[in-house]
Amino acid sequence: MAETRKTKVLIIGSGPAGYTAAVYASRAMLEPLLVQGIEPGGQLTTTTEVENWPGDTEVQGPDLMVRMEAHAKAMGAEIIGDIITDLDLSERPFTAKGDSGTTYEADSVILATGARAKWLGLPSEDKFKGFGVSACATCDGFFYRGQEIVVIGGGNTAVEEALFLTNFASKVTLIHRRDELRAEKILIDRLMKNPKIEPLWHHVLEEVVGADNPLGVEAVRVKHVETGEITEIPAKGVFVAIGHAPANELVKDQLELHNGGYVKVRPGSTETSVPGVFAAGDLTDHKYRQAVTSAGMGCMAALDAERFLAEQDDVEVAPEAPVVQAASAG
Ligand code: FAD
Ligand code: NAP
Repeated sequence: MAETRKTKVLIIGSGPAGYTAAVYASRAMLEPLLVQGIEPGGQLTTTTEVENWPGDTEVQGPDLMVRMEAHAKAMGAEIIGDIITDLDLSERPFTAKGDSGTTYEADSVILATGARAKWLGLPSEDKFKGFGVSACATCDGFFYRGQEIVVIGGGNTAVEEALFLTNFASKVTLIHRRDELRAEKILIDRLMKNPKIEPLWHHVLEEVVGADNPLGVEAVRVKHVETGEITEIPAKGVFVAIGHAPANELVKDQLELHNGGYVKVRPGSTETSVPGVFAAGDLTDHKYRQAVTSAGMGCMAALDAERFLAEQDDVEVAPEAPVVQAASAG
């Protein structure tokens, strides 16, 4: 039978923003429920080394997210393997429907659904998705041992993916529409020094070319953005790394958005246009989009939710106290 779960704080998303919100909300005795979604641990589970998480000179993205989940659980958060398919923010308590059939009723909601990879939207890209076209080098790089690969994009993701793919590929061509990368200087330096990587400036992907039976990529056709000249480059794999778009599907018709789909929050806070609904991380941040800033916003969202709930007459909030003994050091 379909179950209904009631909570003071429903956290949707299990990236750095969601897990950090869960740590803080648990320590405020709010007994949060966190729904993990289709990608438990979020975007960092699709990468390898993370070198800018304070306290760790280097940590594997998936390991960091396992630690964050364990931390949230240890503080008392309930972590639920479910996907929210529908969210009604028109009245309180807010209602969310889970793919599992569970209904969640929440006095406050923290949205931390993050962002998802963008695609170019070419028919040939779509045709070969999963058959040579990918947006995740760590997931699919292994299949291209000794092969030639292209990466599209000029940001941190594209440069990191190109570097990572040199572990497998014989050659990686980085195709970028300008002649300047927006990636961090340290990554650009590594890229330029890597003999397996060749940047191709001022080019965009026109078409992925391949065989139908079996389905597989053989080359890419690229166009020079100024001259229009078309060149064909042999490649068995195409990694699209042109950025991420906010995962706003649950709320795009219910909350104010800005900058092409990011959930708008009041400056200096995580309050959205609906009282009691808070947003944190890449879902709301078009500018910084880092693990540490997402975690910071997750903290803010839990503190904002705590304050909001304390002001409501219909919600009982326990006085502040550490949830478990181990938390007393914090
Ligand atoms: P995300 O990590 O995007 O997590 C979103 C969560 O929401 C997921 O758990 C998902 O399952 C869940 N969700 C979505 N929809 C639903 C739903 N309907 N129901 C329930 N749950 C849902 N940043 C750095 O600081 N350092 C790095 O080295 C670094 N490397 C990166 C490498 C790659 C390849 C990528 C893609 C990003 C990298 N970033 C890095 C950026 C960093 O990963 C993000 O800024 C950060 O993960 C954002 O955290 P978040 O919590 O907002 O959301
Ligand atoms: P991004 O910074 O938005 O870069 C996207 C890149 O793709 C840009 O170079 C852009 O070109 C290009 N691009 C966009 N649309 C295109 C199109 N239609 N055709 C061709 N090229 C296109 O995205 P990202 O690299 O995924 O990074 C997202 C966020 O995650 C950033 O904040 C980043 O710092 C963070 N991140 C951090 C790390 C790290 O800290 N090590 C690693 C990965 C990601 P233009 O440059 O011309 O606009």
